[in-house]
Amino acid sequence: MANWHSAEVISKQQWADNLFSLKVSYPHNKFTAGQFIKLGLTIDDKRIQRAYSLVNPPGTDYAEIYLTLVADGLLSPSLAALQSGDYVDVSYPASGFFTLDEVPDGETLWLLSTGTGIGPFLSMLATPEPWQRFKHIVLVHGVRWSQDLTYGPLISQWQQQYPQQFHYQPVVSRDSGNHYLTGRIPQLIQQQRLQQASQRSLDDTCQVMICGNPDMIKETKTLLESMGLAKNLRRKPGQITVEQYW
Ligand SMILES: Cc1cc2nc3c(=O)[nH]c(=O)nc-3n(C[C@H](O)[C@H](O)[C@H](O)COP(=O)(O)OP(=O)(O)OC[C@H]3O[C@@H](n4cnc5c(N)ncnc54)[C@H](O)[C@@H]3O)c2cc1C
Repeated sequence: MANWHSAEVISKQQWADNLFSLKVSYPHNKFTAGQFIKLGLTIDDKRIQRAYSLVNPPGTDYAEIYLTLVADGLLSPSLAALQSGDYVDVSYPASGFFTLDEVPDGETLWLLSTGTGIGPFLSMLATPEPWQRFKHIVLVHGVRWSQDLTYGPLISQWQQQYPQQFHYQPVVSRDSGNHYLTGRIPQLIQQQRLQQASQRSLDDTCQVMICGNPDMIKETKTLLESMGLAKNLRRKPGQITVEQYW
């Protein structure tokens, strides 16, 4: 059963019209990177709460959440209206199994995300574990528009720190440009373009974590299964580990 903490909004970053991050006070810093908390507000006398992945690593005294404003959503428009100094209810402890301790060892760790699904991967990459366990790490971020490629400064720190081990691959579906691949993640895997761009193979020697849009997850999982990879289960370890946001 979750407990609730009334958290002050420390800062808000507006990335694009419908994309923002909230940093809120959160002393419950013992969690595993990849886990989620719940945010709750009372709106028109109704209590509304939803799950959100933590972007920050364990050990910090704040919680950072990366959110999409769903225009007709029940909670996210009110979260988008929060400003520094406002309060929001946050659950603790964090929970969930989309964590590296559920993922077997492998040669390359592929982290496939769309939209705000990059959040749990940013938390994991800010811990020592993935860098110690995997020879290569490929972080793929799929978005519609190039301005939705967020968290650039944080990601470029890892590019500089781990130039041989880390490849960041932005993917944009509705723009074309030189700094990213244009298309959708499953098609780019099928066409071998993600593998070529990152110079990494994608086969059963790899581990693949997928987070974000349910259609992307379904299509990618089906494709990977056709390539010989299998869902990772506790009783039967495989290569595909998934977190679905809706
Ligand atoms: C384990 C878990 C972790 C999650 N982590 C995050 C996170 O880190 N950031 C985040 O923004 N959301 C996250 N979500 C989704 C979040 O819980 C809410 O569903 C979302 O904020 C919409 O809530 P709402 O009340 O505004 O919309 P609702 O009234 O509940 O409407 C839900 C609809 O909103 C759409 N939707 C939901 N989430 C998204 C999204 N992320 N991007 C685009 N469309 C969406 C879908 O069409 C869905 O059917 C997570 C969900 C789960 C289960």
